[in-house]
Amino acid sequence: MSISDNCYQWLMNMQNFDVEESFWNKLSKEEQEQFCALREKNLAGYEEYKRLKEVKEYFINSFEVLPLPMAIKDENRKLMFVNEEYKKIVRMHQAHEENSARKGHEEGQIEITNLANFSDETKEAFLENCKYAIEHSAIVQQEFTLGRGVDQQNYIYWLTGFETSDKKRGLVSIYYDDSFFQSILKRLNRKIVDLEKEQQNIIRNSTLDPLTGAYNRQVLSGFLEEALKNAKEMGKPFSILMIDIDHFKQVNDTYGHLIGDQVLQLLVMLLQKTLRDRDYIIRFGGEEFLIILHDAVFENARRIAERIRKIVESNMSTPTHQPITISIGVASYHEGEEIKGLLQRVDDNLYKAKTSGRNRVVPSE
Ligand code: GH3
Ligand code: MG
Ligand code: MG
Repeated sequence: MSISDNCYQWLMNMQNFDVEESFWNKLSKEEQEQFCALREKNLAGYEEYKRLKEVKEYFINSFEVLPLPMAIKDENRKLMFVNEEYKKIVRMHQAHEENSARKGHEEGQIEITNLANFSDETKEAFLENCKYAIEHSAIVQQEFTLGRGVDQQNYIYWLTGFETSDKKRGLVSIYYDDSFFQSILKRLNRKIVDLEKEQQNIIRNSTLDPLTGAYNRQVLSGFLEEALKNAKEMGKPFSILMIDIDHFKQVNDTYGHLIGDQVLQLLVMLLQKTLRDRDYIIRFGGEEFLIILHDAVFENARRIAERIRKIVESNMSTPTHQPITISIGVASYHEGEEIKGLLQRVDDNLYKAKTSGRNRVVPSE
């Protein structure tokens, strides 16, 4: 071994690169120069080595204290690094597995993802995702569950593929325990369903007459405007009926208010059965009902009104079997007519039905 080799060897083993004077004096001029050059080079190398070592320490410590499970894999999905949290979730869910299954999650092993509760499908998707992330330097996100029953936990993993400056591929995977948010989400969803039901009830209660279930008067103008708009914009015809129970006061006076209420309920039931779903039955006043017949031209409306009159006559009676009858005014929408005019005409017709003997239909085109 030459003195230069010795020097080099010695240098490599040294940490502080200081030279004893006696040793230095034994060196030729040329060797001293050679030595200085080597020292320069090695000092730089050593500094770089120290820096990298420090970076590695920082890096490992940072990921160890990271409260998220994390793993770094090489291009063959071999685990290069796993932090404590990662080991925890893997072991926790491997408790019921064979010992051999655990090996798959040690550093330096190819991850076989032999997690106890990974379904084959999830496992397959996971491996595919790893491959994809590595090959395309892509980010892949996936939700999955571990454990069963009350132990079940929801996770999201992010796989981020990368390529190093010297063209080595790999990925970093981070797992996020989503269970807490999932449970909040479930609670919120339940709350939303409850609120929606409540809202529907409020809407129902604010638009329906509680006694009969017919629409209440509050929605009348909205419904009429809608029908008017369809008529004006799309030429859709519509007609309205105004129904009033004959001598209803007598029913109340003779049999009491409760029977009167039942009569009102029965009338609406019969109307609902007779009419189509898209026709509206609105309780206009005490024992007066307004019906909007969509798409009904005058002749249809007149026929429907007559049918209703007959059904009521033959199906409704007082407790002492006196027939209960209704009078009906009919009016069909005229082009260019306003709602007020239409209501006036139907009301006039109802009045005519009453004054001309009741239990009848009075139409006007
Ligand atoms: P007509 O043939 O001219 O229509 O005579 P009528 O007795 O039916 O008319 P009137 O307007 O004199 O009486 C209507 C009655 O309807 C008076 C009122 O007590 C009764 N009424 C209004 N709303 C209700 C209700 O919700 N329940 C009951 N049971 N009766 C009601
Ligand atoms: Mg009446
Ligand atoms: Mg009346």
